[in-house]
Amino acid sequence: MQEILNRILEDCRRYTLEGEVASYIPELGKGNREAIGIYAATDEGDFFAGDWDEPFTIQSIAKPIFLMLAVRDNGIDVVKQHVGVEATGKPFNAIDYAEPLLLREHINPMVNIGAIAVCGLVKAADNRERFARLLDFTRRITGNPDLEVDQEVYDSEKKTGNKNRALGYLLKNSGMIYGSVEDLLDVYFAMCSLKVNCRDLARIGLLLAAHGTDRETGEQIIPREEAVFINAVLMTSGMYDGSGEFATTVGIPAKSGVGGGIMADCPGRMGIGIFSPALDKKGNSVAGIKMLERLSREMQLSIF
Ligand code: GLU
Repeated sequence: MQEILNRILEDCRRYTLEGEVASYIPELGKGNREAIGIYAATDEGDFFAGDWDEPFTIQSIAKPIFLMLAVRDNGIDVVKQHVGVEATGKPFNAIDYAEPLLLREHINPMVNIGAIAVCGLVKAADNRERFARLLDFTRRITGNPDLEVDQEVYDSEKKTGNKNRALGYLLKNSGMIYGSVEDLLDVYFAMCSLKVNCRDLARIGLLLAAHGTDRETGEQIIPREEAVFINAVLMTSGMYDGSGEFATTVGIPAKSGVGGGIMADCPGRMGIGIFSPALDKKGNSVAGIKMLERLSREMQLSIF
């Protein structure tokens, strides 16, 4: 396994020259496009190569975390009364939702509008508590008690995130956000700005691969049926509007973020964390997808 990761990473290094580092959040534009890392967490141990320990912000990979905790708090059925599970085929930050807004089945939790709505379903007395619960849960599922917000990225997104603000107010207008939109967006921005590395993502992947059971303690952190639900949503819509293509070329549940990370899991086998910040036009890491394609082919990971 170690040999496979080393070889795949070196073979795919040239793809870091393709694509662009995201810069619509100005601070992300400072990312090092040459970085490339991979980490696989399995029941037999962990394997890693390249810049697996370089920190980057989690960005959209916070979306499955919102969904996990919202489902824990409310159950799958209640969450599905607020957001749908159909792939939208739209970019992650799409705002062209037909009026009367928010035919709820069109609001997918893996695109921004749905993720902001789902973030608001996490139970808390206020948004400060909501963030504290989300951070605590993320530390637990990554097994990393030191996870923190990258203050520069958070400030940068808070300053420039007006499209997300617009999405928040659209949701509010349709009665889908209770309380302050700005405060909820602060939670969303702070969660997107969590500083992680490939191991943190691989650990989340391993939890989902093990259908909610923690490898170290054997504890069932999320019930099996909820893990199955999350994996299904990731499979159909975790890779932005490239999810269909990814299903055919890689074939495992995964979520990418504009920080260059990809969290993937192969049910029953392993969790995978990837980092390489140059992105294709849809927002997916170019070298990251190439590494996953190669890994899937060599190890026959596709669930199909
Ligand atoms: N914080 C980013 C945004 O909302 C996350 C986007 C992403 O990673 O897709 O614009």
